[in-house]
Amino acid sequence: MFKPEIPRRKSRKIMVGSVAVGGDAPISVQTMTNTETCDVEATLAQIDRAARAGVDIVRVSVPSMEAAEAFGEIKKRSQVPLITDIHFDYKIALRVAELGADCLRINPGNIGREDRVQAVVQSAKDHGISIRIGVNAGSLEKDLQKKYGEPTPEALVESAMRHIEILDRLNFPDFKVSLKASDVFTTVEAYKILAAQIEQPLHLGITEAGGLRSGSVKSAIGLGMLLAAGIGDTIRVSLAADPVEEVKVGFDILKSLHIRSKGINIIACPSCSRQEFDVIKTVNALEARLEDVLEHMDVAVMGCVVNGPGEAREANFGIAGGSPNLLYVDGKPAYKVTENEIVDQLERQVRERIARMKQE
Ligand code: SF4
Repeated sequence: MFKPEIPRRKSRKIMVGSVAVGGDAPISVQTMTNTETCDVEATLAQIDRAARAGVDIVRVSVPSMEAAEAFGEIKKRSQVPLITDIHFDYKIALRVAELGADCLRINPGNIGREDRVQAVVQSAKDHGISIRIGVNAGSLEKDLQKKYGEPTPEALVESAMRHIEILDRLNFPDFKVSLKASDVFTTVEAYKILAAQIEQPLHLGITEAGGLRSGSVKSAIGLGMLLAAGIGDTIRVSLAADPVEEVKVGFDILKSLHIRSKGINIIACPSCSRQEFDVIKTVNALEARLEDVLEHMDVAVMGCVVNGPGEAREANFGIAGGSPNLLYVDGKPAYKVTENEIVDQLERQVRERIARMKQE
């Protein structure tokens, strides 16, 4: 298979709890909870579902002191590192740092008085936690809106540099930056400009991308353009959908670019009148059955002998429709299956392989 080398932009490695971001660390996948943070159980349940989908880091918004205390409980029981999303209130930042936040998402330029900014940065240093600067086209400073007329890539970068200069002045290098706009080209250009100006890792995302389908497409294009250019150290696909979908789409983007493989990669034909079994129904059922699998494997689901044997041979496991339908294992036709057996048999093969891998 042709896999081009994508030279990655060199960046400083920072830590978000136990997960490294930047440098030679794998590109991590993030999501954000959309429950009330004060509802500890609901938030933990969502984090747990995202963790089962393979998420590396989860962001939780902390809009009040009450939410900060709830965050403390959540942090104690979370199995993945947590970033706290804070706007303006430095006291909340200080509190969540005490309660074990792994990273603070706060823009230093929005904190206000210098002594408050210094207190937050000192607290991050004392607790050994990183900071994320997040510039968003929707909340660009008024003077920059006036200067540029609209959120241009240059305006986003200028806004980010203001926050970055504060951290530089306070000698705090362990931060990452995001520059998000809902327009793909604006976002991509902004990241490209910033990537050439700083050494810190970049958190990629297209903001307010949309619902599951349109947001996934927009994110895949925007993040794909940047990742294919070697830019980006951690990603979040923002969707007006279940956070678990954000995680799945994030991994699908990395998988498509051969950057990081996690979970089952299903190769399926689009199906046509030649299909010997219902390809779409089979793919949907198989995806649902293998949703929990984090190990990487290629599984081909092909409707007939036109392209079926070729693709099935390339995958770890494959089904090629025909008379009879043939199930392939490691590139070789292994046995015949009826339409009703396809999903069960492919699932069995995958799970048995995982069990063997775990024993070895
Ligand atoms: Fe149609 Fe066969 Fe191609 Fe699938 S593999 S799209 S069933 S011709």
